[in-house]
Amino acid sequence: MKTPMHMAKEKDTATIGFPYVLEKDQQAVALKKMQELQSSMRSLVVMLENCTKCGNCAKQCHSYLGTEDYYNIPAARAELMGGIYKRYFTWMGRTFAQLTGAGDFDTETLSKWLTYFYQCNLCRRCARFCPFGIDTAEVTIAARHILSELGIMPKFIQGIVANLKKTGNNMGLPKAAILDCAEFLEAEMLEETGLEIKIPLDKPNSDILYIPSSTDFFVNSDTMIGVAKLFYHLGVNWTLSSEILEAANFGLLFNLNVMRDHNQRLKKVANQVGAKLVIQGECGHGWRAAKMYTEGSSGPVSFGLIHILDYCAQHLDQLPLQKLPMRVTLHDPCNYARAGEIIEQPRAILRVCVAEFVEMTPAREDNFCCGGGSGILMDEMMDIRMKLGKKKAEQIRALGKLDYVIAPCASCKAQIPQLLKYYGMNELSTSGVMDLVGKAIILQKK
Ligand code: SF4
Ligand code: SF4
Repeated sequence: MKTPMHMAKEKDTATIGFPYVLEKDQQAVALKKMQELQSSMRSLVVMLENCTKCGNCAKQCHSYLGTEDYYNIPAARAELMGGIYKRYFTWMGRTFAQLTGAGDFDTETLSKWLTYFYQCNLCRRCARFCPFGIDTAEVTIAARHILSELGIMPKFIQGIVANLKKTGNNMGLPKAAILDCAEFLEAEMLEETGLEIKIPLDKPNSDILYIPSSTDFFVNSDTMIGVAKLFYHLGVNWTLSSEILEAANFGLLFNLNVMRDHNQRLKKVANQVGAKLVIQGECGHGWRAAKMYTEGSSGPVSFGLIHILDYCAQHLDQLPLQKLPMRVTLHDPCNYARAGEIIEQPRAILRVCVAEFVEMTPAREDNFCCGGGSGILMDEMMDIRMKLGKKKAEQIRALGKLDYVIAPCASCKAQIPQLLKYYGMNELSTSGVMDLVGKAIILQKK
């Protein structure tokens, strides 16, 4: 029987290829890195060895469904690394390379890695439907890690890492700009509510360290306002830190050493301010990196770690919320639904805050990715991003008239408005969950 893998065609890949010629010594470095990953990521070898090429994953991957490109079938993408693994690390591959179809790690392979491992959003939907639980996202992470160890990564990601190192946030804005922005948001809230709602920065002896996505602080600031109003109402002792004003952790998406640095920064700053609790803001992959890898990266921690939507949901019975007259749906960020255990919390909050909440189909763990995750929000990827978001646009359109698509993740908040514009749903707005909490909460002077 022909599976989707047999029927699919390889498309012209030149459009987003990163022109690059593999130098001789880089091949040795790449193979050494792959060998290291084999020991540190045992799951990788299990995945590479056990795929039966049944093709089930093809129709579950929005990347393949949107592009119809053979190498965007999860198993075909994974085989880009699997072929190299077999060629260099198995007896059969070393001895009978041509018979086994095992490929060389050469410039052509490199070009395919660069193209297709950056067309995977690391959404993990394939793993959910694979009978063996094979998680192509893990293969993608390993491949991107190897590429970055060769010094190869998109400029967009390079810029973000440099910004983070210099300023503690992906946007590269210094402490003075953070203070200005905090003052501006306080003035906005004063004008709206008549209340002095503070956004403290670097405040010692704080019980809570709140880590927003920098874009929620500087750009989508209604999310930050919602959080500040929540903390005001609950009367908690909290602060932001200028050293880590960034929930995102791009290291998870391309280099595991960079991820560890960010996790270690989180622990250091939490200890500096004396936090008993660290609350992460609306960022999908950032939550996954913090939740799953903080202790693994930096050793045991003395504080709790929770997501803002979990925290808010746990305090719902203490919040004076009015129902906003709107019809909304929720986009489940992949890293919440398939890796972060943030599924029912946003639903519980939305049911209290809005007049009508409708579900997408499919939703929760089975939801489709918006096509913007995994660090590919760069403009040069726009055409591909729109293809990757085709399933999401179809899901939204099927719901009829809506006021908002709620997308509680900084990457989704950047991608979904572009999708709505591209697929002709201009009248629809995108928002975080905490934005609506900020609009629905009725505050009183403390
Ligand atoms: S569903 Fe799993 S076993 Fe089947 S082709 Fe995809 S990755 Fe391989
Ligand atoms: S992780 Fe998502 S984008 Fe990547 S191969 Fe799997 S389903 Fe496709």
